[in-house]
Amino acid sequence: AERLMEGRRGVVMGVANHNSIAWGIAKTLAEHGAEIAFTYQGEAFGRRVRPLAESVGAKILVPCDVEDIGTVDNLFATLKEEWGSIDFVVHAIAFSDKSELKGRYADTTRENFVRTMLISCFSFTEISKRAVEIMNPGGSLLTLTYAGSTRVMPNYNVMGVAKAGLEASVRYLASDFGPNGVRVNAISAGPVRTLAGAGITDARTMYTYHRQHAPLRRATSLDDVGGAALYLLSPLSGGVTGEVHFVDSGYHVLSMPKPEHLRS
Ligand code: NAD
Repeated sequence: AERLMEGRRGVVMGVANHNSIAWGIAKTLAEHGAEIAFTYQGEAFGRRVRPLAESVGAKILVPCDVEDIGTVDNLFATLKEEWGSIDFVVHAIAFSDKSELKGRYADTTRENFVRTMLISCFSFTEISKRAVEIMNPGGSLLTLTYAGSTRVMPNYNVMGVAKAGLEASVRYLASDFGPNGVRVNAISAGPVRTLAGAGITDARTMYTYHRQHAPLRRATSLDDVGGAALYLLSPLSGGVTGEVHFVDSGYHVLSMPKPEHLRS
């Protein structure tokens, strides 16, 4: 098969462990010939990410906490020094205080609202701006979002508001960077069992509900997301920018799940 990412270099941000969506994407990109740099948030994650990065031949592994802009600047300085230019960025980063991923959205605190927005929304804008400075024409930026941005999901709360902002950012950044030949898109993934996913109260109920009712009647896998990311980061999607692409077994098309007595 043609190796779609041969000769392309980029950074994958947001691998915490082998269950991370970022890891699913990295594996697929590596299989298709991409050269990947990885970032990790703090040394505890670093110990988990290092063997994964090495398993796909990565030579660049840099600490980066988006709350500390100095570490973001350092990342792009390192990429410029080592590679000169890049072709893609995967942003798979989100955070909100667990204690507010339950109960009412209305009870979100000012402090957690600002922190959630900075890490889960604004970081993509800051990263994109720096990435484009060293990005080759034909480059592609990708972030991860969730349908709680446009419809109310129990317990998703402030994270849904952050994802709404993130999706709007994708459209504005696509407009800003289109003239540079750089595309900007998001994948809206169905529920995946990850560390971040487990922070949402009663996530298990949502995984089960999704699997039972989605048109494909199955969970969203890391390979599902990896395949869509390969499309969005490669020339296959050359005419696509500003999009939110659902990879969720079709769940988002439903208005209400099919009642038991109507199922065949
Ligand atoms: P994960 O826990 O594996 O990854 C989240 C990553 O965010 C971790 O690597 C963590 O280190 C990083 N992160 C958090 N705060 C950070 C900071 N200050 N600086 C740098 N990195 C930071 O979970 P995941 O589910 O793979 O999450 C990846 C993305 O996918 C997130 O944006 C998430 O909202 C999104 N997403 C997840 C699901 C799901 O069901 N798991 C569904 C749709 C979208």
